[in-house]
Amino acid sequence: MKDRVEVAIIGGGISGVALAYELSKRGVEVAVFEKNFLGSGSTGRCGGGIRQQFSTEENIRLAMESVKIFERMKEELGWDIEYYQGGYLILAHTEEEVKQFEKNVRLQRSLGLDVQWLERDEINDIVPELDVEGIGAIAATYCPTDGHAYPPKAVWAYADKARELGAHIYEFTEVKGIIVENGRASGVITERGETRSRFVVNAAGAWSPIVAEMAGVKLPNKPYRHEIMITEPLSHFLDPMVISFHDNVYFRQTMRGGIIGGWGDPEEKPGFNFASSLKFITTMARLLRKYIPALKPVRVLRQWAGLYDVTPDAKPILGPVKEVEGFLQMNGYSGHGFMVAPMCAVLLAQYITGEPLSIPLEPFSVERFEKEVRGEVSVVG
Ligand SMILES: Cc1cc2nc3c(=O)[nH]c(=O)nc-3n(C[C@H](O)[C@H](O)[C@H](O)COP(=O)(O)OP(=O)(O)OC[C@H]3O[C@@H](n4cnc5c(N)ncnc54)[C@H](O)[C@@H]3O)c2cc1C
Repeated sequence: MKDRVEVAIIGGGISGVALAYELSKRGVEVAVFEKNFLGSGSTGRCGGGIRQQFSTEENIRLAMESVKIFERMKEELGWDIEYYQGGYLILAHTEEEVKQFEKNVRLQRSLGLDVQWLERDEINDIVPELDVEGIGAIAATYCPTDGHAYPPKAVWAYADKARELGAHIYEFTEVKGIIVENGRASGVITERGETRSRFVVNAAGAWSPIVAEMAGVKLPNKPYRHEIMITEPLSHFLDPMVISFHDNVYFRQTMRGGIIGGWGDPEEKPGFNFASSLKFITTMARLLRKYIPALKPVRVLRQWAGLYDVTPDAKPILGPVKEVEGFLQMNGYSGHGFMVAPMCAVLLAQYITGEPLSIPLEPFSVERFEKEVRGEVSVVG
């Protein structure tokens, strides 16, 4: 194991490996420490959805810039990550939601996003199989450049390319401590020895608060279980991801044909819970049949659970902390880290190398929680 690098990255999910790639591309020597195997955290368990339709400028801009990266990823990284721009159809069920969505669309359009407003009788133009009346949808928004990809392949693609450019990636290597000297993070202590570095990046997903504590830093993120399932494969019929914040549900069809979807249990308590529940699968099956009655005979192949790394405003925490110099955060994505991590990696790489930032980091600073924050409302919680 290397005893010195420029940047030590804790966590081998999409964040850690994307940052390793962006830094290696800029000639910076990095090491990634992953306690398990690459993608074994939330990334390998995630739904793979990539949307830009958020309610806050920060999330919209991160997502729009990330989409540009996803669009060129095949060429840039040399991997087909099953990226498909089939759009996102987001359903409104109440007048209150309609008002919020109108606001969202105004903001999204002002930032240059191509979003369509759909009246109730136009929703079936996008997904003819949807039982619009049965689910009580009264309007929807649709963004054709939203889409999805296969998250494990994105991790493998970034990691492969980063290694090719000189990154050191250590799997099954847990970070047990962070070396802090004179108020500066200067390396990590792992079960296989120490590695000194100029920067330490906390990309440990739902485990980030535990990692931050190693340097005496407190983060407000909380881990929440989120369950998901996939059906047996069907021939392709569903282009967009369908989301309802009202029913806390989303689903889409993968490139291999299965319908993958999740439902957020409003009663879920924070904790490191990976158990699959009967409550989830019965609720999800009922919702899928309600949304698309033709799915009734289709069987579930598997269900699983992962963790959302949730901040109080559902926006990521990116950049330095005031307590420990050189200790950078890259976590707290809540339920949308896969889609924004590519741009977050660019921003942190720019910060570390002193390049001009494409998007300012201040709105993502952990210090924002010292004041009242305006939360992202367009989420499946
Ligand atoms: C069911 C589900 C569905 C989701 N659907 C979507 C979606 O459709 N679209 C989307 O954008 N997002 C989605 N998300 C969220 C998304 O998965 C995460 O935001 C994203 O994967 C976070 O990536 P990460 O690299 O920050 O964290 P992770 O992928 O969790 O990686 C962190 C890594 O750090 C490692 N680690 C922790 N502690 C240590 C330590 N001490 N030493 C070394 N390594 C350590 C962990 O093992 C882990 O591999 C979903 C999440 C879940 C659970």
